[in-house]
Amino acid sequence: MAKYDLILSGGMALDPANGFEGVADIGIKAGMIARVAPELDPFDGDEVVDVSGRWVMPGQIDTHAHVAGLSRNWDPALGYAMLARAGTTTVLDMGGTGYSLVDGIKRKGAGLNVAGLFALIPGATMPAAEPSPPEARDIVAGALRQGCIGVKILGGYHPFSPQTTSDIIHACNDQLAYVAFHIGTRESGSHLGGVREIPRLVGKGRLHVCHVNSYCRGVIEDADAECDEALGILEEMRSQLNSEAYHAIQNGTSGSCDFEGNVQANVPRNCLAMRGYAPTREGMGQAILDGYASVIGQRGGHVVYLKGREALTLYERANTQVGMSFPVNLPSTAFKLTTAKNAAGEFIVDAVSTDGGCHPRNVAIQSSMALVAFGALTPLEMATKLSLTPARMLGLANKGHFSEGADADITIINPNTNQPTMSFVAGKPIMVEGQVVGSGGTLLVTAKGRRAADASGLPYQVVDMAKSRLYAGA
Ligand SMILES: [Zn+2]
Repeated sequence: MAKYDLILSGGMALDPANGFEGVADIGIKAGMIARVAPELDPFDGDEVVDVSGRWVMPGQIDTHAHVAGLSRNWDPALGYAMLARAGTTTVLDMGGTGYSLVDGIKRKGAGLNVAGLFALIPGATMPAAEPSPPEARDIVAGALRQGCIGVKILGGYHPFSPQTTSDIIHACNDQLAYVAFHIGTRESGSHLGGVREIPRLVGKGRLHVCHVNSYCRGVIEDADAECDEALGILEEMRSQLNSEAYHAIQNGTSGSCDFEGNVQANVPRNCLAMRGYAPTREGMGQAILDGYASVIGQRGGHVVYLKGREALTLYERANTQVGMSFPVNLPSTAFKLTTAKNAAGEFIVDAVSTDGGCHPRNVAIQSSMALVAFGALTPLEMATKLSLTPARMLGLANKGHFSEGADADITIINPNTNQPTMSFVAGKPIMVEGQVVGSGGTLLVTAKGRRAADASGLPYQVVDMAKSRLYAGA
């Protein structure tokens, strides 16, 4: 029997956990990293893949993407293939249910590792608009039993009072459930005003702050000042918070209007106001015709941004119940939040995410490679923000590095094009030259989700949240 099932030969290995950056061969056995060395004997490998000229990093982990949410106009599970093509090997779904997660993996999985958060949507996934602390505790327990690793609070769409928001965060903390927050309560909004509430809401607790970039669009102050203030709050509460920022210019939001023709959610209202459109059905219609607002739709098995007349027709036909996107994220904000470090030289925002998946903006690798070319990140720093730190955020001790015995999750990048060219999960290819070759997926659950994972029939791994960056030392 060969010593290795697979040898990836001659690539530039990036392994920040071990401080290693250099040309090396990587030997894989039984789905795990067996050896990284300047040269392995090719006769020791059942299969040898030449990756010379390529960069080889621990599999990219996307700590904010959508593959299981509710959508009427496209299938969120298409996000698995979209992520695989983008070089992702592990994804944290930012808001579905345990059932939608399992269903999507079975139908359209692309071989990724998948952890899910339970979306808190009053009237849809939970009964009360303002759950009491005991109700919040039960909702969180139920989410874990379904196989989610925690919950997502969607403050930009379904905000709670500050008190309820705080109660939910603490209900999660008490059960070591992951808790992510799209910032905003009934008293603030999905902008810097909501970021200012974090210290009061979290207290001594723990929280994942979603897509920090989206609160620094210049809604309250000058965008640069908003970045500085957000970074200050994140740094002040460093040991209590996980955070990520994404790079795409396009946001993702909802077009939904109430029966009086008013745009409902906070986020699209802000987007319309930024360009002087009324926050109404008519204002949205004009923004679509002008090409400012795009409608998200499915065409030929792909999720795409639709514009102009075609988009307006879809918007009207769906009675405004569509996903939408506006080009409101600022590159200067993305740059600043991604590269900012504290006095100790540590990144203040932990990870680069996409807020993509089934939204066509899975650009984390491309944009981070561009930052390397720009000199704003070193190659090892890029691997830190795309893989090592995300693994630690989620408590995935076997991922994010190339130590012996680590999961052989690997993303290979062509440094001439900045594009991922190949990726592996547990030593098996899931994407080769842009073609998805993986299927199904591995569920990541807490010990409380073991029964649901067993019942799903999918392979799964149990994650110990006590070891995650969110709860370590709590
Ligand atoms: Zn999101």
